[in-house]
Amino acid sequence: MANLIDGKAVSAAVKAQVKAECEALKSEGVTVGLAVVIVGDNPASRVYVNNKKKACAEVGFESYEYALPEETTQQELLELVNRLNGDSKVNGILVQLPLPRHIDENAVINAISPVKDVDAFHPRNVGHIMIGDYSFLPCTPAGVMELIASTGVEVEGKNCVVIGRSNIVGKPMAMLLLHKNGTVTITHSRTKNLKEICAVADILVAAVGKAGFVTEDMIKPGAVVIDVGMNRNAEGKLCGDVDFEGCKEKAGYITPVPGGVGPMTIAMLMRNTLTAAKLQRK
Ligand code: NAP
Repeated sequence: MANLIDGKAVSAAVKAQVKAECEALKSEGVTVGLAVVIVGDNPASRVYVNNKKKACAEVGFESYEYALPEETTQQELLELVNRLNGDSKVNGILVQLPLPRHIDENAVINAISPVKDVDAFHPRNVGHIMIGDYSFLPCTPAGVMELIASTGVEVEGKNCVVIGRSNIVGKPMAMLLLHKNGTVTITHSRTKNLKEICAVADILVAAVGKAGFVTEDMIKPGAVVIDVGMNRNAEGKLCGDVDFEGCKEKAGYITPVPGGVGPMTIAMLMRNTLTAAKLQRK
């Protein structure tokens, strides 16, 4: 059986560190605040927003929720973002995606002040990540890097394969592995010979969005297998992109779903918000 990578334990350690730093800032009279904006009543988004607010309370941040109705116009949302950009109590702004179809997500992301962009989705922050000179890292890929570090396996010189090329997971994930001197292959729906490419990966990160997509024959014996996927199976149970039962004997290290990457994403959001508060203080 592979070593299980415990996302709950690693995320608890990150949050404990953030909490200690938050307390130190409080003793200097600085309170850290995160604004969370949700538009409409997508049940999954509601769960994510509640989890983020819970994490804020855990580490000692103030959270400010703005729950707007589905029919909110793009202009109204942009006006709110603009107000939050100028609000000194708010160090980080998170607009929960997806937004209703009549709102242009890019326009909203571009409106968030880059110094309050704790999701690191603003093009300016994306550019910083490309160069390798950044303040914020996108939460999910940053969380994956923490999980890989927790195994003690060095990325340098390793064959790293990322399945998926989305702007929020796949692309920045590949970049972070590259910054750590991994030899990185990005794969996607048009990739040929995907199985063969994955089967030589020392580190395999799956961000596809398809339950059980990664099967035992796709992994190298002893590989680090990170499952970013969050899917529902036929029984409605939360599951990842990796066939965990099939792969757990062959992998060296593997993340479970739930309890792997998911908790890390929120922990890294807390870390980014703390970083934002410190940057704004300067
Ligand atoms: P996405 O935007 O839908 O991207 C999925 C990627 O998978 C695309 O690049 C797509 O390729 C690729 N893909 C689809 N079918 C494929 C195939 N047959 N072979 C190879 N590649 C294929 O999804 P995402 O936002 O990156 O999210 C991916 C998964 O991670 C989802 O399950 C999501 O719920 C989960 N997620 C989890 C967290 C967390 O905190 N745990 C955070 C974010 C996302 P093309 O580009 O060619 O279409």
